[in-house]
Amino acid sequence: MKIISRSEWGARPPRTRTLTTWSARREFVVHHSEGPITQTPRQIQDFHMGPSRGWSDIGYNFLVDHRGRIYQGRGWLVIGAHATGHNTSGIGVCVIGRDGPDITPAARTAVRALYQYACELGGRTLAKRGHGDLMSTDCPGDTLRAWVHAGMPAPGSTPGGPPTSWMEALMRDLPTLRPGASGEDVETVQGLLGARSHPVAIDGRYGDATAAAVAAVQRWGGVTDDGVVGPKTWPVLLRVQ
Ligand SMILES: [Zn+2]
Repeated sequence: MKIISRSEWGARPPRTRTLTTWSARREFVVHHSEGPITQTPRQIQDFHMGPSRGWSDIGYNFLVDHRGRIYQGRGWLVIGAHATGHNTSGIGVCVIGRDGPDITPAARTAVRALYQYACELGGRTLAKRGHGDLMSTDCPGDTLRAWVHAGMPAPGSTPGGPPTSWMEALMRDLPTLRPGASGEDVETVQGLLGARSHPVAIDGRYGDATAAAVAAVQRWGGVTDDGVVGPKTWPVLLRVQ
């Protein structure tokens, strides 16, 4: 699963960021943008940061387009601005488009994959919500609302059928991280360390404290405690062994 980074889509830097923890994340909230499918994350960000909203950043944690491309919004652990009273507990994902044919199987597949990933990162089953389940709004439209209430089935899958290969695809795309690394992937690791009872500061910098916590989790998981997050350590952090 490829997540298009903020730098790849040309995001403006946030004015401020407030982080939450995986233990606070309980819900996965689906939205739609109710605009044309040609709308870009940058246009949505400009609107959210502009005079009519005045927010610190794009409101959503992630966005998905009709081709199934996933864009990072605020990311996993930054508190969003998408559902009043549920921004700390809820990860907000917006499908770019209007109700109806814009809600493609590719878009639903991507939202489902993101949901599975979020549950693995958080170490729990997140509640599936449509925006309208939390407050009075038409969002996310009839199609997505019905799909969320049906349990967000992967398009083409039969209930109770074999699991999709989302985790296989996910594991293939994960980077190897070592001391000295920095950025969003390091923040993800730091968030996971907290969820695995080895909390460290979530600052996106892979220093000695992060390496020591990684080594502790590696020992617990029975893999070499070299402090490097590679193909054997990600499954321990994600609890998919
Ligand atoms: Zn919404």
